[in-house]
Amino acid sequence: MPCTVVRREIELAGLKVPLVEITGRGDGPLLTVIAGVHGCEYASIAGVRRWTRDFETRELTGRIRAVPVLNVTGFAARAPFVVPEDGKNLNRCFPGDPSGTLAERLAYDTFRQLIEGSDALVDAHCGDMVEALQPFTLYEAGPAEDRAREMAVAYGLPYVIRQERGPDRAVAGTSSGAAAEAGIAAITAEAGGCGLLEEDAVALHVAGLNRVLHLLGMTPGQPDAAEAGPEPHFFGRFLWPRCRAAGWWEPTVAPGDLVAAGQPIGSVSSLDGSQLLETITAPADGVIIFLTSSPAVAADGLLLGLGAS
Ligand SMILES: [Zn+2]
Repeated sequence: MPCTVVRREIELAGLKVPLVEITGRGDGPLLTVIAGVHGCEYASIAGVRRWTRDFETRELTGRIRAVPVLNVTGFAARAPFVVPEDGKNLNRCFPGDPSGTLAERLAYDTFRQLIEGSDALVDAHCGDMVEALQPFTLYEAGPAEDRAREMAVAYGLPYVIRQERGPDRAVAGTSSGAAAEAGIAAITAEAGGCGLLEEDAVALHVAGLNRVLHLLGMTPGQPDAAEAGPEPHFFGRFLWPRCRAAGWWEPTVAPGDLVAAGQPIGSVSSLDGSQLLETITAPADGVIIFLTSSPAVAADGLLLGLGAS
């Protein structure tokens, strides 16, 4: 007997957001999958769109809730990083605020209506319009981290980063971080970037989501071991170097490059090119996970993400 698939819109913070609800036979976990928290991350949006397409003919135990594009106004406006109405990064707003601005209310309603009560959460991302990256999965320390780590490995991307809780973490207010705080096994999975719709990255997301289903015991059989790829590299720190002054950013490294602490990895210069404002050096031994691909950087602008042990 096939699954029941219902495609409808759910109202979150007054916005109509597409939702795919898939109900399998028999009791099982509730998996929530979100993409488009950032509206220009097309490879991850496409991955979730494609993944949800054929469940009518698949066998499933448990339930899936999938949102292919959460930040619908960011998608419509082609606005990278933010919800355009308030300029806030939705993935810094979780678990949200019911009396806040639109991004904060959208985070709140998403957390209350979709994330809470789930057994597992996958938030699918890629590099945004001006970010290049190596595919990686991020999860947080916390009560559900053992399961989250298994999900991160199952997703099948080359790098897995564990983030400690507390003020030192590179990124706070994420959907997966808020879910982890609530004891839900959650990952942020990143493949693709630069506003591109690359087939390889889309396929990574589809395969990763299917392997998470297997891990959670929601689909029969075992995933194809040959397809799973080699064991990922694990990192315990995620460092996000920034520049001091605004200017023209020119990295000398690429995502996936291995760097040593203190090694020059790029520069920021004046817009006319006459003045070197800052030489950027690697803050630790590690691998370049993502890189701001646009030369335009603001003061205190984010330059890259480094995975370090
Ligand atoms: Zn993102």
